[in-house]
Amino acid sequence: MTVKFVAAIDHGTTSTRCILFDKLGAPIAVAQRGQTMHYPRPGWVELDMEEVWNRTQECIHEALGSAGAAPADIAGIGITNERESVVLWDRRTGRPVARSIVWQDTRTAAAADALAADGGIQRLQDRTGLPISTYSSALKLGWLLDQDRARREAAVRGDLLFGTPDTWLLWNLTGGPEGGVHATDPTNASRTLLMNLHTLEWDQDLLDLLRIPRALLPEIRSSSEVYGSAVGDLSGVPVAGVLGDQSASLFGHTCFDHGDMKSTYGTGAFLLFTLGTEPVLSEHGLITTVAWKLGDADAVYALEGSVAMAGSLVQWLRDNLGIIHDASEVETLARSVEGSEGVVFVPAFSGLFAPYWRDDARGVIVGLTRFANKGHIARAALEATAYQTFDLAEAMLADTGLEQLGELRADGGMTKNELLMQFQADVLGSPVAAPAVAEITATGAAYAAGLATGFWSGLDELRANYTITRRWQPEMDSDERARGVAAWRSGVDRTLGLTRPSGTA
Ligand code: ADP
Repeated sequence: MTVKFVAAIDHGTTSTRCILFDKLGAPIAVAQRGQTMHYPRPGWVELDMEEVWNRTQECIHEALGSAGAAPADIAGIGITNERESVVLWDRRTGRPVARSIVWQDTRTAAAADALAADGGIQRLQDRTGLPISTYSSALKLGWLLDQDRARREAAVRGDLLFGTPDTWLLWNLTGGPEGGVHATDPTNASRTLLMNLHTLEWDQDLLDLLRIPRALLPEIRSSSEVYGSAVGDLSGVPVAGVLGDQSASLFGHTCFDHGDMKSTYGTGAFLLFTLGTEPVLSEHGLITTVAWKLGDADAVYALEGSVAMAGSLVQWLRDNLGIIHDASEVETLARSVEGSEGVVFVPAFSGLFAPYWRDDARGVIVGLTRFANKGHIARAALEATAYQTFDLAEAMLADTGLEQLGELRADGGMTKNELLMQFQADVLGSPVAAPAVAEITATGAAYAAGLATGFWSGLDELRANYTITRRWQPEMDSDERARGVAAWRSGVDRTLGLTRPSGTA
């Protein structure tokens, strides 16, 4: 019997999915389960990873059932996951010692400040590609170890295992306490602040600096190879792909070549630019990350920048201003006016991130006249996502010395918004394109697994699978574009220093 599908497990912050893809990259069966988010204190975000594993198994069961598939029909399993989250568990019982600390959790703010106090937030950039921030898994892991002396001792003895969610799922899929494979891939490891970006190995100096015992770390393997065989409903199927979510989406968009870019427009927006096998350290506040490493081939790197307030600004219009009842209404409201008429909305609600990095910034709406109404505010809010993405793209051009962007590939919930997508193309001066398959992150994970197991022959076959169904061409003339960018920049200037009392430096 020939195998028909590759299974992707897509662990997101709010839900976990299992999707079966056929040879053409089409999703044939999708099963999804939500998971309970825990917010025990302001800024804290946690997940119960036993619940996540239970939901994952249910999704696998349901996806197989709805496709009428047996393990023999599945060529391999790929995993994609939210990245910097931390799981710490007992290697004998398989039980987490605490709930997982999720990537957005900011409880390590003081630890991040202390680490950056000596040398600034870029002090580890050369080695890791990362600025020091609350995101990095290592600070969260350190926090977990510091809660309990016995826990740290158990970690040093090798009784505990650490992993980002990919590692937790891989270990459980391959048997858990009975022989589970304890490994990760460089896309996840590169977000910990513990991996050397150049050697793709755990870096002893960083382990010493952050007081992380080596005994609990997973082995860093590639993103596409057979790690082990699954047990349970997928018994005997090779687990063969691991990619952090943004890498998986870049890979699913087949952004394989230098200069290829994708943006995922969800709650936040994530822009990634494929560099190739040489990492470029950003001089404009972007992150350098591993995009993927396929088997024995050299790793491919990417530049990454993110927009904190993208779809979440639409939610803010709904929940805090009440000018829409549902996110889908924002486009109609924005189209009720002909243009933003000089209204600029800079949603620097918790400061400005890349490429500005100003924590003294706060949000502003400027350019208001007696004529302005909620339509202009809705329009300016959508334009803010496009301008923030434009700022990141400009930083990527500056870092790489490219003159002009290529086509930007887009996915995520906000791509339903035609006005935003058209405006994005206008502001970038480059086409924006969206593929037929919405589940592009899971597609990337499936591709990594299917390449390792020979289900797909190589990158060309994946490129042939990629079908653009919508494309927005830039239509704005260059004067109008320049005026818009200048107005945006002047709005950005007005956000600065708002957390300081006036008159202070
Ligand atoms: P995530 O994966 O981050 O949960 P999704 O890709 O599912 O996000 O996208 C959801 C986000 O997209 C929400 O923040 C929502 O406000 C926004 N959104 C959904 N539909 C629209 C729309 N038609 N126009 C603008 N934003 C939208």
